Amino acid sequence: MKDHNSSSHDAVDVTDIFGSNVFNDKIMRERLPRETYKSLKDTIENGTVLKSEVADVVANAMKDWAIEKGATHYTHWFQPLTNFTAEKHDSFISPTPNGSVIMEFSGKQLIQGEPDASSFPSGGLRATFEARGYTAWDCTSPAFLKTDSAGHVTLCIPTAFCSYHGEALDKKTPLLRSMAAVSKQAIRVLKAMGNATSKSVTSTVGPEQEYFLIDKQFYLERPDLMMCNRTLFGGPSPKGQELEDQYFGFLKDRISSFMKDLDFELWKMGVSAKTKHNEVAPAQFEIAPIFSTTNIATDHNQLVMETLQKVALRHDLVCLLHEKPFAGINGSGKHNNWSLSTNDGINLLEPGNTPNENEQFLAFCCAIIKAVDTHSDILRASTATTGNDHRLGANEAPPAIISIFMGELLTEILFKIAKGEKIEIGGKSYIKVGVDTLPNLPKDNSDRNRTSPFAFTGNKFEFRMVGSSASIAGPNVVLNTIAAEALDDLATRLEKAKNKSAEITAYVKEVIELHGKVIFNGNNYSEEWVGEAEKRGLLNIKNTVDALKAYLQPKAHKLFSKYRILTKEELHSRYEIYVEQYSKYINIEANCSSHMVRRQYIPAVISYLNFLGQAINSTKGSSPVMEDLLAKISKLLDSTYAKLQQVEEAAAKAKSTTDVTKQAEQYRDLVFTSIVSLREDVDALEALMPRSLWPVPVYADMLFKL
Ligand code: ADP
Ligand code: MG
Repeated sequence: MKDHNSSSHDAVDVTDIFGSNVFNDKIMRERLPRETYKSLKDTIENGTVLKSEVADVVANAMKDWAIEKGATHYTHWFQPLTNFTAEKHDSFISPTPNGSVIMEFSGKQLIQGEPDASSFPSGGLRATFEARGYTAWDCTSPAFLKTDSAGHVTLCIPTAFCSYHGEALDKKTPLLRSMAAVSKQAIRVLKAMGNATSKSVTSTVGPEQEYFLIDKQFYLERPDLMMCNRTLFGGPSPKGQELEDQYFGFLKDRISSFMKDLDFELWKMGVSAKTKHNEVAPAQFEIAPIFSTTNIATDHNQLVMETLQKVALRHDLVCLLHEKPFAGINGSGKHNNWSLSTNDGINLLEPGNTPNENEQFLAFCCAIIKAVDTHSDILRASTATTGNDHRLGANEAPPAIISIFMGELLTEILFKIAKGEKIEIGGKSYIKVGVDTLPNLPKDNSDRNRTSPFAFTGNKFEFRMVGSSASIAGPNVVLNTIAAEALDDLATRLEKAKNKSAEITAYVKEVIELHGKVIFNGNNYSEEWVGEAEKRGLLNIKNTVDALKAYLQPKAHKLFSKYRILTKEELHSRYEIYVEQYSKYINIEANCSSHMVRRQYIPAVISYLNFLGQAINSTKGSSPVMEDLLAKISKLLDSTYAKLQQVEEAAAKAKSTTDVTKQAEQYRDLVFTSIVSLREDVDALEALMPRSLWPVPVYADMLFKL
């Protein structure tokens, strides 16, 4: 086999490599008996119940294929409520009476696993003594092999994870439920509009992933990066991103060699890594795949995050997925491109050349507008994490206010329909925007919408609030579910209506009248927008603790239970888990701040003060420069020490609070704010201290020595 990671100039055939570690349709067709293949396909495509005989045959074929590829172990790969994936490896060995082993893998082992679940967050759904959790095979996302650089190969089986009583303990279960819900309601709408051929609708997602890379050596010297994934301290580098020379800049050799390695690793696992480029901030990059079903896209995004980190280490780099690893420059997000497609290939958000006459587009687009406006609080909650609080509302990221960018042309069309005005498209008034010269509508190429948290981009919506380190499951569960609800209502109307076209016009009118306020094509970063949004009655929820409260509202219970996505208990448990996670992350940041200040910064400052003191003595008090420095640094040191004690006291107080919501509020209002205030002093000290005495790498090192 060729070494795809070497820098040899041998051409490699990507089509051979792509999916070579996936038990995909092609392999299944080759290796499964015809009947088994057909039966499994029926389960995958139509959700029929999987028969145990079928599972046995599939398991055996899967095992033989994996063993031929070098696997010795398999794992049920799942997504607990942590934003990470989990895996427990079991070997295929099974003892024989004569003391040897054979390699075995049964249908039961494929379908179901029973990992001890007691150490995963359950938010009170499962008492610790009920340790049992179950993993269940998700055959709609193909099994694959993970390989590591030491040559270990593991068969990974994507699974859902639930409790003994069947409550969802993971991110995949509600995602699958939400996909089924939106499909059902979208098909009802299509049927009512006279489409008798489409059988199912899939929500599709293409997540663009941003990340930072830094030299591993610097990472190892920064306890904050190691413990918190972000710098808790650090003054600005003399140069930041102001020259705008990084975005789309050429890829340095070290980076392109990393990216090449990354692409190959992802391609082997069937992840369609497509686009890669430098991002806005120094040392920031992006990777985007070709879109797929929300389920596969979510699994693949987890693999992207994991592979980014693994491959980076091979290049003596560390990949930072945190939303805000460095203050003062851009943070990282995930652009969640979302749309709906029928099984026969129709993108339901495709406006075509004449969107004004495209009833299907108008209906689906308005349903999404209504859904987003009605449930902007829940959508906002789905992106709320400690890390993302640094981003939402900071000046480079979409603000915490949810609004929709539709672009001038579509906005005009929607508002004109609502007012009953005549629309001429492609006529004189539109020649100016050049529509006639384009095969399609102008796609999102204007600058303004780069600031929108929810932008229509040609034939899909791009939800830009999602954090770079988060699983995309949650936001897509919400998108699918709120879309299902809006489409449900629309379907009911259309089913009753005699004149479907008139009903769609009435629907557009109603949606624009009631929800048009959520459409905003201007600059979302401007001060005026904040005031304007408030006047329009749009929410501006600035932090995780407040945002998560949306999950506790009766509106959310009703929505999620109606479509059987999450029960009230499941939803409540998620709230508790996420709120607790918020507190835990800030508690770690407080501990780490205290660790670094007490054990690294204060000793370094004292030794410099000592040096200055001796130097002043030796000049017999005739050095105003040194005295000035000594006074400034001493004062900052005193203040640093006082603020350090505040951090420690606040953290102790918050930690001992029992109510999870009150506790999180204390972490937000007392602990986090005191960490920020402590940082100000430490960063001021950094600016006054000799570089050689500063105990950790500085921003200029980390950001520019790549
Ligand atoms: P841009 O760079 O302008 O944001 P791209 O065309 O590069 O847009 O697409 C960004 C992402 O959107 C890619 O991952 C792409 O696969 C995905 N995408 C394209 N069409 C769809 C769709 N119909 N549904 C979901 N995602 C899509
Ligand atoms: Mg984009």
